[in-house]
Amino acid sequence: MADSVVSEKKIAASPEEVHPHKAYGWAARDTSGHLSPFRFSRRATGEDDVRLKVLYCGVCHSDLHNIKNEWGMTIYPVVPGHEIVGVVTEVGSRVEKFKLGDKVGVGCLVDSCGSCNSCEDGFENDCAGWVLTYGVIASDGTMTYGGYSDFIVAPQRFVVRFPDSIPLEKGAPLLCAGITVYSPMKYFGLNQPGKHLGIVGLGGLGHVAIRFAKAFGAKVTVISSSPAKEREAIDKFGADAFLISRETNQMEAAAGTMDGIIDTVSAVHPLNPLLSLLKNQGELILIGVPEKPLEIAPYSLIRGRKKLAGSAIGGMKDTQEMLDFAGKHGITADVEVIPIDYLNTAMERLARNDVKYRFVIDVANTLTHP
Ligand code: NAP
Ligand code: ZN
Ligand code: ZN
Repeated sequence: MADSVVSEKKIAASPEEVHPHKAYGWAARDTSGHLSPFRFSRRATGEDDVRLKVLYCGVCHSDLHNIKNEWGMTIYPVVPGHEIVGVVTEVGSRVEKFKLGDKVGVGCLVDSCGSCNSCEDGFENDCAGWVLTYGVIASDGTMTYGGYSDFIVAPQRFVVRFPDSIPLEKGAPLLCAGITVYSPMKYFGLNQPGKHLGIVGLGGLGHVAIRFAKAFGAKVTVISSSPAKEREAIDKFGADAFLISRETNQMEAAAGTMDGIIDTVSAVHPLNPLLSLLKNQGELILIGVPEKPLEIAPYSLIRGRKKLAGSAIGGMKDTQEMLDFAGKHGITADVEVIPIDYLNTAMERLARNDVKYRFVIDVANTLTHP
């Protein structure tokens, strides 16, 4: 039944009919993940919509999982990109929040049902009907395409105002990496002075997580597989301590010390040693999405009544709140700004953990139309 609804939707959607505006970006077309120029179309700006010219777009590890179909859900061709910063070029007649020339952001979501309990409570990120910024079929029956492209159209509810104090390229990663770490810190009560927070994986999400946690006044310990990252974790990002996950002695010495742990690791890794770092009743919050299931020894949860949780991005109200907080506290990402034709090399480097700490595409200056 559900399948037939989806296929009817697909058939109903002639992209040119529904989406009259020519767009241009970079797409992956198969599981090689190779990205190359791609022409497509987007909808006209509706009465509730904001159209923005993309200036910068961050490269999230989720983009890499997607282009290679590591989660088994990719619909090709896929135009990735959900850390989008741009300038408003058109607004619909009912848009009051934004005007032409405003600097704005679009993150991982471009729609949700708008009427379930989660949506009403401002947790569009928990809505069963969420519409991701790229790679899914939207309510008009056509594919969503992300920010590795010249422009995007999104409902005003899914557009956030970008603080003046944050440089656009350094702030773009906040639209996914920032909210994905801010939201669980807030909802699991880890955003308090005196809390001891563990952050696993010092990558795009991990490095901004340290900065948010320090701004909240928490004590931060990084748990990493890369000994070479220790100095930067402490001197540059402000972590208080650094544990090398495979050094059993270091891990055992820190047992039972942490109130909560945010795990950003993108690959399969052991969870039981992380659970032993928690105080009794502490929680391990998974936000990384490895391509295969992770193993848990029940005893490592049972002993000390520990909790295992997860969290997906964040709601729109929290996304604006996170950006305003980042603007006030000077929180940005460390970025390597790249031209769009460097994308395939950037993806190879991201796959081998060789980025400090987020690639951001200079879309406006390097995406040249054919
Ligand atoms: P990233 O920049 O590649 O960072 C991931 C980090 O994980 C690496 O820097 C590395 O840190 C660690 N790591 C990688 N391979 C490892 C391995 N085999 N064993 C142990 N540690 C390893 O990726 P990201 O953009 O931060 O994204 C991280 C994950 O979060 C991805 O799976 C992504 O899809 C997911 N994500 C989820 C959400 C959500 O809403 N829940 C949102 C955004 C992204 P060290 O070198 O320090 O070990
Ligand atoms: Zn992301
Ligand atoms: Zn909903």
